[in-house]
Amino acid sequence: MVLTGAGVSAESGIPTFRGPDGLWKNHKPEELASPSGFAKDSALVWEWYNWRRDVIRKAKPNLAHYALVDMESRIEEFTLITQNVDNLHFEAGSQNVHELHGNIFNVKCTSCGFKADNYAVSNNAPKCPDCGNLLRPDVVWFGEELNPAVLAKAQEASATCELFFIIGTSALVHPAASFPSIAKANGCFLVEINTEDTPLTPQANEVIRGKASEWLPKITILYDKITGKS
Ligand code: NAD
Ligand code: ZN
Repeated sequence: MVLTGAGVSAESGIPTFRGPDGLWKNHKPEELASPSGFAKDSALVWEWYNWRRDVIRKAKPNLAHYALVDMESRIEEFTLITQNVDNLHFEAGSQNVHELHGNIFNVKCTSCGFKADNYAVSNNAPKCPDCGNLLRPDVVWFGEELNPAVLAKAQEASATCELFFIIGTSALVHPAASFPSIAKANGCFLVEINTEDTPLTPQANEVIRGKASEWLPKITILYDKITGKS
Protein backbone atom coordinates (compact mmCIF):
# COMPACT_ATOMS: atom_id res chain seq x y z
CA MET A 1 0.00 0.00 0.00
CA VAL A 2 1.12 3.52 -0.77
CA LEU A 3 -0.21 6.75 0.71
CA THR A 4 0.90 9.89 -1.09
CA GLY A 5 0.61 13.57 -0.26
CA ALA A 6 1.55 16.85 -1.89
CA GLY A 7 5.30 16.09 -1.54
CA VAL A 8 5.11 13.49 -4.32
CA SER A 9 4.07 16.24 -6.75
CA ALA A 10 6.41 18.93 -5.39
CA GLU A 11 8.99 18.19 -8.06
CA SER A 12 6.35 18.49 -10.75
CA GLY A 13 6.24 22.14 -9.71
CA ILE A 14 3.02 22.00 -7.68
CA PRO A 15 3.43 23.81 -4.35
CA THR A 16 2.68 21.84 -1.19
CA PHE A 17 0.36 23.37 1.40
CA ARG A 18 2.83 23.48 4.23
CA GLY A 19 6.05 24.26 2.41
CA PRO A 20 7.58 27.73 1.94
CA ASP A 21 5.24 28.43 -1.03
CA GLY A 22 2.14 27.26 0.84
CA LEU A 23 0.73 30.73 1.35
CA TRP A 24 -1.24 32.37 -1.45
CA LYS A 25 -1.77 36.14 -1.29
CA ASN A 26 -1.23 35.87 2.47
CA HIS A 27 -4.05 33.36 2.93
CA LYS A 28 -3.51 29.97 4.50
CA PRO A 29 -4.95 26.98 2.59
CA GLU A 30 -7.10 26.17 5.63
CA GLU A 31 -8.84 29.56 5.21
CA LEU A 32 -9.56 28.99 1.52
CA ALA A 33 -10.13 25.23 1.25
CA SER A 34 -13.03 25.23 3.66
CA PRO A 35 -16.81 25.65 3.58
CA SER A 36 -16.50 28.75 5.77
CA GLY A 37 -13.89 30.27 3.41
CA PHE A 38 -16.19 29.67 0.44
CA ALA A 39 -19.21 31.11 2.29
CA LYS A 40 -17.17 34.20 3.19
CA ASP A 41 -15.67 34.90 -0.25
CA SER A 42 -16.45 32.41 -3.03
CA ALA A 43 -14.80 34.62 -5.68
CA LEU A 44 -11.51 34.59 -3.77
CA VAL A 45 -11.68 30.80 -3.33
CA TRP A 46 -12.36 30.34 -7.05
CA GLU A 47 -9.50 32.68 -7.91
CA TRP A 48 -7.19 30.49 -5.82
CA TYR A 49 -8.54 27.26 -7.37
CA ASN A 50 -8.17 28.63 -10.87
CA TRP A 51 -4.59 29.59 -10.10
CA ARG A 52 -3.95 26.06 -8.77
CA ARG A 53 -5.68 24.45 -11.77
CA ASP A 54 -3.49 26.50 -14.07
CA VAL A 55 -0.32 25.33 -12.26
CA ILE A 56 -1.55 21.71 -12.21
CA ARG A 57 -2.62 21.70 -15.87
CA LYS A 58 0.90 22.63 -16.90
CA ALA A 59 2.53 20.07 -14.57
CA LYS A 60 3.75 16.65 -15.68
CA PRO A 61 4.24 13.53 -13.56
CA ASN A 62 7.78 13.16 -12.17
CA LEU A 63 9.99 10.13 -11.53
CA ALA A 64 8.21 9.42 -8.24
CA HIS A 65 4.87 8.98 -10.03
CA TYR A 66 6.47 6.77 -12.70
CA ALA A 67 8.32 4.64 -10.12
CA LEU A 68 4.95 3.95 -8.46
CA VAL A 69 3.60 2.75 -11.83
CA ASP A 70 6.60 0.38 -12.00
CA MET A 71 5.99 -0.77 -8.45
CA GLU A 72 2.36 -1.57 -9.22
CA SER A 73 3.39 -3.67 -12.22
CA ARG A 74 5.59 -5.83 -9.96
CA ILE A 75 3.26 -6.31 -6.99
CA GLU A 76 0.21 -8.56 -7.20
CA GLU A 77 -1.97 -6.60 -4.78
CA PHE A 78 -1.18 -2.92 -4.86
CA THR A 79 -3.31 -0.03 -3.62
CA LEU A 80 -2.41 3.62 -4.01
CA ILE A 81 -4.30 6.07 -1.84
CA THR A 82 -3.59 9.69 -2.64
CA GLN A 83 -4.50 12.89 -0.87
CA ASN A 84 -3.53 14.78 -4.01
CA VAL A 85 -6.15 16.31 -6.25
CA ASP A 86 -3.83 16.83 -9.22
CA ASN A 87 -4.56 13.70 -11.30
CA LEU A 88 -0.83 13.03 -11.79
CA HIS A 89 -0.88 9.39 -10.61
CA PHE A 90 -3.50 8.63 -13.29
CA GLU A 91 -1.58 10.64 -15.87
CA ALA A 92 1.57 8.62 -15.11
CA GLY A 93 -0.36 5.36 -15.60
CA SER A 94 -1.11 4.06 -12.10
CA GLN A 95 -4.20 1.84 -12.12
CA ASN A 96 -5.44 1.10 -8.63
CA VAL A 97 -5.55 4.70 -7.43
CA HIS A 98 -8.11 6.08 -5.01
CA GLU A 99 -8.42 9.84 -4.59
CA LEU A 100 -9.24 10.53 -0.96
CA HIS A 101 -9.75 14.25 -1.44
CA GLY A 102 -11.27 14.27 -4.92
CA ASN A 103 -9.94 15.83 -8.09
CA ILE A 104 -9.38 19.52 -8.76
CA PHE A 105 -10.90 19.22 -12.26
CA ASN A 106 -14.29 18.14 -10.92
CA VAL A 107 -17.03 20.54 -9.82
CA LYS A 108 -20.35 20.16 -8.05
CA CYS A 109 -23.31 22.44 -7.49
CA THR A 110 -23.70 24.07 -4.08
CA SER A 111 -27.46 23.66 -4.41
CA CYS A 112 -28.65 20.78 -6.64
CA GLY A 113 -26.96 17.43 -7.35
CA PHE A 114 -25.14 18.56 -10.52
CA LYS A 115 -21.56 17.25 -10.93
CA ALA A 116 -19.19 17.54 -13.89
CA ASP A 117 -15.61 17.67 -15.12
CA ASN A 118 -14.47 21.24 -15.50
CA TYR A 119 -11.11 22.21 -16.95
CA ALA A 120 -11.82 25.90 -17.42
CA VAL A 121 -9.39 28.35 -15.92
CA SER A 122 -10.99 31.75 -15.67
CA ASN A 123 -11.29 34.18 -12.83
CA ASN A 124 -15.06 33.86 -12.62
CA ALA A 125 -16.83 31.52 -10.26
CA PRO A 126 -18.73 29.10 -12.53
CA LYS A 127 -22.51 28.71 -12.30
CA CYS A 128 -24.58 25.52 -12.41
CA PRO A 129 -26.12 24.91 -15.88
CA ASP A 130 -29.14 23.21 -14.24
CA CYS A 131 -30.14 25.63 -11.49
CA GLY A 132 -27.91 28.71 -11.89
CA ASN A 133 -26.42 28.52 -8.41
CA LEU A 134 -22.69 28.57 -7.70
CA LEU A 135 -20.53 25.58 -8.55
CA ARG A 136 -17.67 24.64 -6.22
CA PRO A 137 -14.62 22.41 -6.65
CA ASP A 138 -15.60 18.79 -5.96
CA VAL A 139 -12.77 18.26 -3.52
CA VAL A 140 -12.85 17.49 0.18
CA TRP A 141 -12.28 20.65 2.16
CA PHE A 142 -11.00 21.04 5.70
CA GLY A 143 -13.79 20.01 8.06
CA GLU A 144 -15.63 17.91 5.45
CA GLU A 145 -16.27 14.16 5.36
CA LEU A 146 -14.37 11.92 2.97
CA ASN A 147 -16.12 9.88 0.30
CA PRO A 148 -17.22 6.82 2.34
CA ALA A 149 -16.39 4.32 -0.44
CA VAL A 150 -12.83 5.64 -0.81
CA LEU A 151 -12.37 5.75 2.95
CA ALA A 152 -13.54 2.12 3.27
CA LYS A 153 -11.13 1.05 0.52
CA ALA A 154 -8.22 2.80 2.26
CA GLN A 155 -9.08 1.32 5.64
CA GLU A 156 -9.40 -2.18 4.18
CA ALA A 157 -6.05 -1.91 2.37
CA SER A 158 -4.44 -0.51 5.54
CA ALA A 159 -5.69 -3.41 7.64
CA THR A 160 -4.42 -6.08 5.24
CA CYS A 161 -1.21 -4.77 3.68
CA GLU A 162 2.26 -6.11 4.46
CA LEU A 163 4.31 -3.15 3.29
CA PHE A 164 3.22 0.48 3.49
CA PHE A 165 5.00 3.44 1.88
CA ILE A 166 4.04 6.85 3.33
CA ILE A 167 5.29 9.36 0.79
CA GLY A 168 5.42 13.16 0.88
CA THR A 169 2.66 13.79 3.37
CA SER A 170 2.92 15.97 6.45
CA ALA A 171 0.59 13.46 8.13
CA LEU A 172 -1.40 16.18 9.83
CA VAL A 173 -4.71 15.62 8.03
CA HIS A 174 -6.88 12.87 9.48
CA PRO A 175 -8.12 10.25 8.81
CA ALA A 176 -5.39 9.79 6.14
CA ALA A 177 -2.69 10.16 8.77
CA SER A 178 -4.22 7.30 10.77
CA PHE A 179 -3.97 4.67 7.98
CA PRO A 180 -0.33 3.81 8.78
CA SER A 181 -1.26 3.20 12.44
CA ILE A 182 -4.02 0.80 11.37
CA ALA A 183 -1.47 -1.04 9.22
CA LYS A 184 1.19 -1.11 11.93
CA ALA A 185 -1.27 -2.56 14.43
CA ASN A 186 -1.73 -5.44 11.96
CA GLY A 187 2.00 -6.14 11.73
CA CYS A 188 2.71 -4.17 8.55
CA PHE A 189 6.21 -2.78 7.81
CA LEU A 190 6.09 1.01 7.45
CA VAL A 191 8.46 3.00 5.25
CA GLU A 192 8.32 6.79 5.25
CA ILE A 193 9.80 8.82 2.41
CA ASN A 194 9.84 12.53 3.17
CA THR A 195 12.30 15.40 3.09
CA GLU A 196 11.37 16.18 6.73
CA ASP A 197 10.23 14.51 9.93
CA THR A 198 6.49 14.09 10.43
CA PRO A 199 4.33 12.94 13.34
CA LEU A 200 4.45 9.45 11.76
CA THR A 201 8.25 9.26 11.69
CA PRO A 202 8.55 7.59 15.12
CA GLN A 203 6.21 4.79 13.98
CA ALA A 204 8.08 4.03 10.75
CA ASN A 205 10.20 0.88 10.57
CA GLU A 206 12.37 2.57 7.94
CA VAL A 207 12.76 6.28 7.34
CA ILE A 208 14.10 7.60 4.04
CA ARG A 209 14.94 11.27 4.43
CA GLY A 210 14.97 12.63 0.91
CA LYS A 211 13.03 13.40 -2.24
CA ALA A 212 10.44 10.94 -3.48
CA SER A 213 11.59 11.32 -7.10
CA GLU A 214 15.15 10.32 -6.15
CA TRP A 215 14.35 7.43 -3.82
CA LEU A 216 11.38 5.65 -5.38
CA PRO A 217 13.22 4.73 -8.61
CA LYS A 218 16.09 3.33 -6.49
CA ILE A 219 13.64 1.19 -4.55
CA THR A 220 12.17 -0.41 -7.69
CA ILE A 221 15.71 -1.11 -9.02
CA LEU A 222 16.65 -2.68 -5.68
CA TYR A 223 13.47 -4.78 -5.71
CA ASP A 224 14.38 -6.12 -9.14
CA LYS A 225 17.90 -6.96 -7.98
CA ILE A 226 16.66 -8.77 -4.87
CA THR A 227 13.97 -10.73 -6.71
CA GLY A 228 16.14 -11.38 -9.78
CA LYS A 229 13.65 -9.64 -12.08
CA SER A 230 16.14 -7.40 -13.86
P1 NAD B 1 1.46 19.02 2.94
O1 NAD B 1 1.70 20.21 2.08
O2 NAD B 1 0.85 19.20 4.27
O3 NAD B 1 2.87 18.29 3.18
C1 NAD B 1 3.77 17.99 2.15
C2 NAD B 1 4.81 17.03 2.70
O4 NAD B 1 5.68 16.64 1.65
C3 NAD B 1 5.69 17.63 3.80
O5 NAD B 1 5.80 16.72 4.87
C4 NAD B 1 7.05 17.81 3.10
O6 NAD B 1 8.13 17.63 4.02
C5 NAD B 1 7.01 16.69 2.09
N1 NAD B 1 7.82 16.92 0.87
C6 NAD B 1 8.02 18.08 0.20
N2 NAD B 1 8.75 17.86 -0.92
C7 NAD B 1 9.00 16.52 -0.95
C8 NAD B 1 9.69 15.66 -1.87
N3 NAD B 1 10.27 16.15 -2.98
N4 NAD B 1 9.76 14.34 -1.60
C9 NAD B 1 9.18 13.84 -0.47
N5 NAD B 1 8.50 14.59 0.43
C10 NAD B 1 8.42 15.92 0.19
O7 NAD B 1 0.66 17.98 2.05
P2 NAD B 1 -0.35 16.81 2.46
O8 NAD B 1 0.18 16.04 3.61
O9 NAD B 1 -0.65 16.12 1.19
O10 NAD B 1 -1.68 17.53 2.98
C11 NAD B 1 -2.21 18.66 2.38
C12 NAD B 1 -3.57 18.56 1.72
O11 NAD B 1 -3.49 19.46 0.65
C13 NAD B 1 -3.92 17.26 1.05
O12 NAD B 1 -5.08 16.84 1.63
C14 NAD B 1 -4.15 17.55 -0.43
O13 NAD B 1 -5.50 17.29 -0.80
C15 NAD B 1 -3.92 19.00 -0.59
N6 NAD B 1 -2.88 19.37 -1.59
C16 NAD B 1 -2.80 18.70 -2.78
C17 NAD B 1 -1.82 19.05 -3.70
C18 NAD B 1 -1.74 18.27 -5.00
O14 NAD B 1 -2.73 17.70 -5.44
N7 NAD B 1 -0.55 18.19 -5.62
C19 NAD B 1 -0.94 20.10 -3.43
C20 NAD B 1 -1.07 20.78 -2.21
C21 NAD B 1 -2.04 20.40 -1.30
ZN1 ZN C 1 -27.35 23.26 -9.53
